[in-house]
Amino acid sequence: MPEGDALHRAAARLQPLVGERIEAESPHPRGAATGVARVVDGRVLERVEAVGKHLLLRFEGGVVLRSHLRMSGRWRLRPRGSALRGSPWLVLRGGAWEATQWNGPVLALEERPVRALGPDLLAESTEVEDVVARLRTGPTRLVGEALLDQRLVAGIGNMWLAEALWHARVSPWRRVEEVPDDELVAAVGWAREAMRASVRGVRPRRMAYRRPGRPCPRCGTPIESLGLGEATRRTYWCPRCQPGAVRARGRAEGEGFEPSRGLHP
Ligand SMILES: [Zn+2]
Repeated sequence: MPEGDALHRAAARLQPLVGERIEAESPHPRGAATGVARVVDGRVLERVEAVGKHLLLRFEGGVVLRSHLRMSGRWRLRPRGSALRGSPWLVLRGGAWEATQWNGPVLALEERPVRALGPDLLAESTEVEDVVARLRTGPTRLVGEALLDQRLVAGIGNMWLAEALWHARVSPWRRVEEVPDDELVAAVGWAREAMRASVRGVRPRRMAYRRPGRPCPRCGTPIESLGLGEATRRTYWCPRCQPGAVRARGRAEGEGFEPSRGLHP
């Protein structure tokens, strides 16, 4: 299975194409279906790098192609114009060399440039108040979305989100601007302490996460559950302890919002 080191070797193999204006085509129908060749064709390849288990090919104009090889995918480099046996997902031709990508299975354009992560919540140097100030940069976003945005604060996942908001009595459906500082500080601070304890092997009892329909440990009201945000991650909350209207996500379009109250994950 391609691990990080295999990705680094693939990145090294593709270096002869860096700086070249690329002709791209997708002989394989599944490769063609990704639409990648159309977008990168004619662009200069600026950089190839392995990041974790991804290979990132950066083209001029901020276009980034992400390749994940999983078990089966391969990148090869050979002299331009060599006879093709089989159908690669993607061919990238430079002046003297061409790269071929075989078997995908993940070949996609980044929808937006990979942006830097926010401060790590568990780092000693990270102050809860600074995290809250970063959350405030998107005042109309839903709290349940903003806290999961790794560009604002890195480290909080779905479980810690649900638990922290339950402890701080903040509804994930409130907009950031509607929640006073002390409540945001309580939520972020609780998450930080609980995650630190978890690093030491101490896990708090779950109060809301994955407990839809079961009584809130504080007031007995059944815990609710609903998809929230772009990835329609499931959020859990007590409608009595964490009051606030349930609404579509913070952005205007509201698509991807699918109420499915009370269903189990
Ligand atoms: Zn409750």
